[in-house]
Amino acid sequence: MAQHYLMAESFEGGERAYLYPLEDLLAFEGVPVWSHCLLPDLHDAICPSCSECLEIDLCHTPPGTRRRDPHASVRKLNFKGPTLTGVRPAAPADLQPLASRLYRMAVNAGQSAAAEHLTYLFGRTTCPSCAADFSVPEQIEAFYS
Ligand SMILES: [Zn+2]
Repeated sequence: MAQHYLMAESFEGGERAYLYPLEDLLAFEGVPVWSHCLLPDLHDAICPSCSECLEIDLCHTPPGTRRRDPHASVRKLNFKGPTLTGVRPAAPADLQPLASRLYRMAVNAGQSAAAEHLTYLFGRTTCPSCAADFSVPEQIEAFYS
């Protein structure tokens, strides 16, 4: 039933409205991590190279990665914070099976904003401390598993 709803071409709503039921579908299927990490959000991660605590900001335009700010409450007031290094979207052909399925569902439903978000969520980024390049989904999975 959820699948049918998600495939409906007449589906209207923002990317969050589309991604929420996708999370429900993954929860129903018992998929760990991604059943609560699909939305554009801040994700905690640890740099696999230098172990710096990082924050991958998928709400930011364009999405980026920053060191975790110990003064986060200040940042929210000022909208200032450490510099972001970019998140590079994955090419749709390079997406892993789960991400590829979600991407195709979003594209088929005409949800281009949600589809684009998924390419960033399953893309790569650079550690702002040591400049190591790493996979966004691998580090999100490592942090939340
Ligand atoms: Zn690092």
